[in-house]
Amino acid sequence: MTSRRNPVPPAAADDVADPVPGSSAHAQPTLEGEHAAEHEPDRTLPVMSDRPVDPSRADDDVQYEAGLRPRTLDGYIGQDRVRANMQVSIAAAKGRGEALDHVLLYGPPGLGKTTLAYVIGNELGVPVRATAGPVIERPGDLAAILTNLAEREVLFIDEIHRMPPAIEEILYPAMEDFELDIVIGQGPGARSVKVPLQPFTLIGATTRAGLLTSPLRARFGIVHRLDFYQEGDIEEIVRRSARILGVAIDDAAARELARRSRGTPRIANRLLRRVRDYAQVRADGAITQEVARAALHLLEVDDQGFDDIDRRLLRTIIEKFNGGPVGISSIAAAVSEERDTIEDIYEPFLIQVGFLDRTPRGRVATARAYQYFGLDVPGRDQRLW
Ligand code: ADP
Repeated sequence: MTSRRNPVPPAAADDVADPVPGSSAHAQPTLEGEHAAEHEPDRTLPVMSDRPVDPSRADDDVQYEAGLRPRTLDGYIGQDRVRANMQVSIAAAKGRGEALDHVLLYGPPGLGKTTLAYVIGNELGVPVRATAGPVIERPGDLAAILTNLAEREVLFIDEIHRMPPAIEEILYPAMEDFELDIVIGQGPGARSVKVPLQPFTLIGATTRAGLLTSPLRARFGIVHRLDFYQEGDIEEIVRRSARILGVAIDDAAARELARRSRGTPRIANRLLRRVRDYAQVRADGAITQEVARAALHLLEVDDQGFDDIDRRLLRTIIEKFNGGPVGISSIAAAVSEERDTIEDIYEPFLIQVGFLDRTPRGRVATARAYQYFGLDVPGRDQRLW
């Protein structure tokens, strides 16, 4: 477990989120509405595992992430294309005094969708109300949230693809015409009432844009995909986080951490915290390359940022399925993991670094995957037939 003995010093840079919960509208996601209290504990993403390179949010991350989040577009590192586009959209909306168009952010977990949603709110100078698709259970929950929004405020819905269909339908008129269609009564006496809403901005985040229904997708005026970060950007994130956490790290160590962080800021920040613990206990507190390497070795995170599960997944495809092509369900059964977990969590990075290919006939282990295990790369014919 991560040590919590090191105090988090007050954030020095002005682009750092206020770490005191409730001290500003941006401090922590809050669920507005009458059922807020009973749903609050379920708000965060599910805890998938304690693997250090899992990109989904673990309990342990929640405590630190608010303090490490940049608050301004300038402080948001990397994702240059998205940042430049958002800068224009925000300036234009502010110039017109209108609510920003609805924004859909998609991409693998841990890449900064939530962070960007809060940055957008901050840049617009409006509060962000946050909730998540799976916790909105009843139409009334969403209606309560929407009717409480003030003009130009931001509603952030994480995991928007997991919203029940009946609730999604409430969003259509809300997004398009800023009104709610509420049905009062039942049977022949039922009638529909329109309730006007303040113009607002919905920011939806999803790991799987393909799972969004097309009517919902069509109602987002701004759609951005977040990609895995360049190593240089992750290095900058590591140095920035180290500064905020008050731990000394040299350049070679920052590079070492960045290289093994799978292009994912959440993983970079988590590895940094683990390496910091190691430096404190086994060294003099400072993170040098040697310390970083030893700590990462202990965590069983290799040079590629792979851990045991990645290796098991690749080896299964190579050994049990002859390198593929093999369907995702067969892989899931063979490694005893959920199909969704493989598609959302493990596979995107393995594809990004060219170890896995997604073909119409299934997943295929690439030549790089064979080389990684020191195996001979099979001839094309051998693998396909
Ligand atoms: P997502 O919502 O995509 O799962 P988050 O927005 O929660 O990811 O990001 C996880 C953590 O990574 C944040 O707490 C933040 O500290 C860090 N982070 C994400 N994007 C950036 C960025 N562009 N610059 C600096 N830190 C970032």
